[in-house]
Amino acid sequence: MAVATLTFADRVAAEVERKRSQLVVGLDPRPDLPTIVTMVEKAFELSEASHAPVMMELRIRACHVTGEFTAKDNRRAAFSGVNRLAGPPKFNYARLSHPPVTFLHEKLKVEEREPAAQKFIRGEKLNEFFSGDLADIGIITLGGLTNGVLRALERLGLADLFGNSRVPIYCLNVAYPLVPEELRDFCAGKRAVLVVEEGNPDYVEQAVNTELRRSDIQTRVLGKGMLPKAGEYTSDVLLAGVAAFVAEVKPATVDADAVAARQRQLTAHKPGAAAAVGELPVRPPSFCTGCPERPVFTALKLAQREIGATHISTDIGCHSFATLPPFSMGNSILGYGMSLASAAGVGPNMEKRTIAVMGDGGFWHNGLITGVASSLFNRGDGVLVIMQNGYTSATGLQYMPSSKASRQGGAAGMDIETTLKAVGVKWLRKVRTYGVAKMAETLKDALRSAERGLKVIIADGECQLARQRRVRAEDAAKLTRGERVVRTRYGVDDEICTGDHSCIRLSGCPSLTLKPSPDPLRSDPVVTVIESCVGCGLCGEVAHAAVLCPSFYRAEIVKNPSWLERTRHAVRRRLLPIGGRPEKAAAQAPA
Ligand code: SF4
Ligand code: SF4
Repeated sequence: MAVATLTFADRVAAEVERKRSQLVVGLDPRPDLPTIVTMVEKAFELSEASHAPVMMELRIRACHVTGEFTAKDNRRAAFSGVNRLAGPPKFNYARLSHPPVTFLHEKLKVEEREPAAQKFIRGEKLNEFFSGDLADIGIITLGGLTNGVLRALERLGLADLFGNSRVPIYCLNVAYPLVPEELRDFCAGKRAVLVVEEGNPDYVEQAVNTELRRSDIQTRVLGKGMLPKAGEYTSDVLLAGVAAFVAEVKPATVDADAVAARQRQLTAHKPGAAAAVGELPVRPPSFCTGCPERPVFTALKLAQREIGATHISTDIGCHSFATLPPFSMGNSILGYGMSLASAAGVGPNMEKRTIAVMGDGGFWHNGLITGVASSLFNRGDGVLVIMQNGYTSATGLQYMPSSKASRQGGAAGMDIETTLKAVGVKWLRKVRTYGVAKMAETLKDALRSAERGLKVIIADGECQLARQRRVRAEDAAKLTRGERVVRTRYGVDDEICTGDHSCIRLSGCPSLTLKPSPDPLRSDPVVTVIESCVGCGLCGEVAHAAVLCPSFYRAEIVKNPSWLERTRHAVRRRLLPIGGRPEKAAAQAPA
């Protein structure tokens, strides 16, 4: 049966069927480096043992853990690119994951794969037990939350700083599947356990309840209720949850009232402190300093001042930072390379043209077909902005088809502009991202043009992170050879800055910040550019395009200058009344 002949409902049913029939093992290791490393190794063996994919979740707190582990030697794979398989495996229809063979998979999942996974998890002791003297109660926690639970216990006087807890803990480094024997062993003889899992529905709590009731173990199961049903389990949330559990179950040798008082004492100052400090400004993540994508959204802001708000369909990638302040742009965000397809869903019902923003990675991943080809085929009339920064940057600068290099060395030779022309895009412009005024004009043209059909703007500018890595290495080599190196920086003349902060609102560059005004008659802080400025030029472009104050200046810091530059500089220093402002004196080309 070809999928193309299925209705949407059939496809959904097939997908549900496929998901139901497959076993996917989930690891959520305790944030501890040796544990994480062991889990990585065991994940491969677990996958082999259970014939199932194994997924490992590393929570943000696990990613911030520091410590040590002992590395092992790499192992040669049984087969690889240098040790190839002689031929494909024998055709086996039962190995495919489409209906109707999914019914067989479901049987295999229940009868073979899940038991095999559980046997491996138990045999290899992937889940951990921490004993404690309060043996009639316990905590069952997802591995990733263990450190938070231990910290809460420590703050309440029920654990020490080294993680030795008075409350026994069953740490689920494997979130799925649960191992019934381990669960029963842990809960047998306990009056109550607290299940700590983030998110909703409470899958683990439900599974624990089911297993215990089926086994006729009458341990009370507490979880959501002591802890919130949704939201992040931060340190204070866990503190309150563990304290509530202790108050509820009242362990024999613990003064539950003292624990409750301790929790209240630990958090009593918070409302007062919050009231005293007032509402703190949010610090949303943002584009890197000098990112080539930031100016596009500045231009979009300026264009919208003239043409009014438009529907903006955003995408996955660095440019999704534009959904946060100071841009706060994006009516939808669907999936990698899906922005144009998403905009197509609303475009025909909109008075104004929609704008879809997509990265070059998203374009090759998906957008060329689901977005561009579909728009041309369906005679769409939207605007597509493709951020051509040369890499799949958001996930760590991987190469992609239009990168100037590839893993194999030279460029892959594929080009977005040529590809768009080849599939039939007629209205196509390529604009340097840092040219804010030109970008704003091009956006307005695309939105107002009488020409119908898809309009594509390729916003061209190399990822600043990649550029800085390249340029820094090149500059270091030049300095070693004693050659001239120029570094561009921008600055703000604090005597001219009016302190209205429009430049910050329009660009949001992290290198733009505030400092007290040197003028005693003005109370508003002025803008200043800090050392991290990479001299991308956006400041000057914004000041020009948005007709802001003329307080920005550009400075060139020259290392190993020529004799002419030295002479010119010496003359300038004599002529200009510069006092203590050497940076301004170094400015060679005012913006
Ligand atoms: S990684 Fe590159 S493209 Fe992404 S925000 Fe940073 S500079 Fe911009
Ligand atoms: S020139 Fe302006 S926008 Fe560019 S990095 Fe420096 S402060 Fe930021």
